[in-house]
Amino acid sequence: MKTTTPSFILELPLKTTPVQESTILVRLDAGRQLYNACLGESRKRLDLLRQSKEFQEIRILPKGKEKTEAFKSLNRKYEFTEYDIHHYAAGIRHGWIQDHINIHIAQKLATRAFKAVQKKAFRKAKNVRFKGKNQFDTLEGKNNETGLIFRDNTLYWAGLEIPCIIDDTNELISYGLNHEIKYCRIVRRKINSKNRFYVQLILEGTPYQNPENKIGTEEIGLDVGPSTIAIVGDTKAELKQFCSDLVPKQKEKRKLQRKQDRQRRANNPENYNENGTVKKGKKKWKKSNRYKKTSSEVAELDRKLAAHRKSLHGNDINNIIAIGTRIKTEIIPYIAWQKIFGKSIQVRAPSMFMSSLKRKAENAGGYLIKFPTNTTKLSQVCHICGNAVKKPLSQRWHICCGIKMQRDLYSAYLCKCVDTETSTLDIARAKQLWPGLEPVLSEAVSRVIQSASSGKVPASFGLYGNQRKSGSSVKPVAAITEAMDDVIRDNINEDESHGEVI
Ligand SMILES: [Zn+2]
Repeated sequence: MKTTTPSFILELPLKTTPVQESTILVRLDAGRQLYNACLGESRKRLDLLRQSKEFQEIRILPKGKEKTEAFKSLNRKYEFTEYDIHHYAAGIRHGWIQDHINIHIAQKLATRAFKAVQKKAFRKAKNVRFKGKNQFDTLEGKNNETGLIFRDNTLYWAGLEIPCIIDDTNELISYGLNHEIKYCRIVRRKINSKNRFYVQLILEGTPYQNPENKIGTEEIGLDVGPSTIAIVGDTKAELKQFCSDLVPKQKEKRKLQRKQDRQRRANNPENYNENGTVKKGKKKWKKSNRYKKTSSEVAELDRKLAAHRKSLHGNDINNIIAIGTRIKTEIIPYIAWQKIFGKSIQVRAPSMFMSSLKRKAENAGGYLIKFPTNTTKLSQVCHICGNAVKKPLSQRWHICCGIKMQRDLYSAYLCKCVDTETSTLDIARAKQLWPGLEPVLSEAVSRVIQSASSGKVPASFGLYGNQRKSGSSVKPVAAITEAMDDVIRDNINEDESHGEVI
């Protein structure tokens, strides 16, 4: 059953006993094995499909209904559909797995595995990942009647009866508990190397709106760059750094990971070739206590990073929603960015940011429209002469036809002026709005400069380096340009920067 009604999540901590905890862990591991099997089978079927002659023939068909239909029937022929993988999961769910995983939970696992492979098929993901021991943290049902059941503030799950910890005074919780439950999910988190368990209720309706969070009415053009976020409304504009606080933590994590690698090598010299690469074939890995300690430090840091990111994302999203909920932006070329900026993009998770922004905008009655970069080319176009000039990422200013504007703000402005029907820039509208918004955008730029020079944003936009030079004859605008160029350069060479520069 596919549900299309809006839903939101309420998470409650579980009061588990040690016996219950070990039962849950066994079930999670059974789920992991079923998931991995479905993942492998889906991947195998996709490979077979791709090697087929038909696939090569359909591939070169022109885009359209015929091509879509042909692909659909090919998927059916090679049994590469969600339904077929459900069937597969039901077939292999015999023996001991059956005792731990009910059929609904198995189907959900099959869907999850199938979707992961599908993502790879659509080139939205580079690869699929099998889950290693202890890396599988969630299981969910399909409804609140079988499998995982929440009733009377208790989670019932095939013989387990686990009370939830409920804070009655919390409005968010009482709001959630008044809604219909679609299904339940169990979540394991490792906190300071201890397992904690939670139940997530997937509820029908829209999430609790904090009355203190304002909802604005302006139309917004948004530009999310590798390290910046630019917001342009009707009367307000803002240029900020995007999740830069996370970068030092990410570095700390990588330092730990390198330590982990050194320990692994020291414990298992027989598994490495002379040139330092890992030997092929089946190996046994010895894990020292120190290595285990480092591993749990990495996991703990990871959890902190995720929590920190969530709060940074949340702040930025609330900021945007406070200006408006009708949002227009470009699709993020995530894979291309990852190639250029690597881990520094991964840690900021812009795609995750976009999807929660979309959800929150929609919950507040608005929308988030994304258009493809290749049709709009907003980072290159000038709205006066219409010329598209390819700017390298290092060039932080749009300078053309008497306009001089910080690049990200300018492209957020152009986003605002895109015709959503055609996904192209409405030049007439851009020309009409520019005189009114130009001062708003300029003000946003000067706010950035001010906060940087007053030390509130230490070295954020790289302005410090230039201030030292400001005694010389460097013109202000030139200095800012240079400063913003520094920001981007530092992001590109982020291995050399030491956290304080990005
Ligand atoms: Zn121009």
